[in-house]
Amino acid sequence: MNVDPAFEKHLSHVNLDALSKSQDVIYIVDSSIRLMAFNEAWIIFARKNDGENILSNYLLGTQVSEVGIKPIRKYILNGYMKALREKIPFVHDYECSSPQAYRVFHQTAYPIFDSSGLIITHHLIINKQHTEREIDFYSHFENDQKIVTQCANCRKIRDPQNDKTWFWVPELVERPLPNTSHGICDPCLDHYYPDI
Ligand SMILES: [Zn+2]
Repeated sequence: MNVDPAFEKHLSHVNLDALSKSQDVIYIVDSSIRLMAFNEAWIIFARKNDGENILSNYLLGTQVSEVGIKPIRKYILNGYMKALREKIPFVHDYECSSPQAYRVFHQTAYPIFDSSGLIITHHLIINKQHTEREIDFYSHFENDQKIVTQCANCRKIRDPQNDKTWFWVPELVERPLPNTSHGICDPCLDHYYPDI
C-alpha cells in the first residue's frame, strides 16, 4: 500500500496489508478528498485503462474530487461528504467496460472511524462478453471530423447525426481520439444517476 506518511496515524486500526493485496481497486482519501493511499490493484487498473498518464496525474495529495465529468463528479462528491458527515458508507454502482468485456463495479466509500477520510473500494460485480452491436467507427463516421462525445459511464460514442443514439465502438475505448469530449448517455443517467 502506498500511504502518505502523515496520514498513517489515522489508519492504525486498518489492515493495510489486506487492502494492499486485494484484487479490488482501493484508495484512501482525507476529508478534503485528497489521495492519501492506494493499492497495487489501483496501479494495475490505471495502467490498463488510462495508461501511464493517470499514475503521474494522481500522486499522493492529489485532489480526487476534481476527476471525471461535472455532474457525476458532483454526485460522487456529495456521496462522499454525506458518508463523512453521517458516518455511513456511500455505495454506488457504475459501468466501466473495456474493449473486450462489459464490466460493472460496485463502489463503497467507508468512513474512517475518526472522520479523517474515506476508504474507497471498487469491486468488480459483472464481467461478461459485450452483447452490444459493435460499430466500426472509421467506416461509420468517415465524413465526420467533429468532436466525438463519449459516455463517461458506459464509454459508448454519441451518433453525430442523432443525439439520442449511442454506439459501442470498442476501438475508441482502446484508443480514444484526441478530440474526445465526455458526457453521459440517457440510459446511464436513468439507470446509474437517477438523482442528477
Ligand atoms: Zn452510457
